[in-house]
Amino acid sequence: AAFDDIDLGEGLNRNIRRCKYVKPTPVQRHAIPIAVAGRDLMACAQTGSGKTAAFCFPIICGVLGTPRSHFVDGTRVAYPLALILSPTRELSCQIHDEANKFAFKTGVRVVVAYGGTPISQQFRKLERGVDILVATPGRLVDMIERARVSLRKVRYLALDEADRMLDMGFEPQIRKIVQQMDMPPPGTRQTMLFSATFPNEIQRLASDFLSNYIFLAV
Ligand code: AMP
Repeated sequence: AAFDDIDLGEGLNRNIRRCKYVKPTPVQRHAIPIAVAGRDLMACAQTGSGKTAAFCFPIICGVLGTPRSHFVDGTRVAYPLALILSPTRELSCQIHDEANKFAFKTGVRVVVAYGGTPISQQFRKLERGVDILVATPGRLVDMIERARVSLRKVRYLALDEADRMLDMGFEPQIRKIVQQMDMPPPGTRQTMLFSATFPNEIQRLASDFLSNYIFLAV
């Protein structure tokens, strides 16, 4: 099968061709139809497996199908529709770059937020509107506490390299972040968890954060 056979919408399919992706990788072939169908997903995926596209395509597709209004309440609070959590600045930037290519000329706005750099610059980017926020957990908690980001409207959540995030001690921040999304209305969030390994702690995250999920090991 080729990407052209999967209907992800005209804009996204065009960008996939532009990126010269022709054939889905195994994780993409299995994860994308499940995620586009709206199911929660826990996937075993290593670096280099093509996992970034596996969660970005369904997220962009979903965001394009959702009415968007930035700054609805006239404040400077950003309300992303999708959140991608990743352990490091490097990985977050990589995901941001790829997501931007996939979202090219679709009107979907992608912003990245990570620690170790002035938060004010990232606030300015958020002020221009954000649909998909790619963030490291610590910086995101900081932004939430400063009331510049609200996760109340998040409908798509992806946790990338979840095992590495736990190894780095981010579990309290991740739980705090997901708690922000568990406010009403419930049952409207789709969650995708990607991890290279599946120790008990990851299984526990999956059972706490995902509902009725499909487990994928490729
Ligand atoms: P990832 O595992 O998401 O970090 O992707 C690894 C590399 O493979 C990245 O440089 C991607 O741009 C590239 N890639 C991902 N999926 C495909 C595909 N279906 N066809 C060609 N290249 C791909």
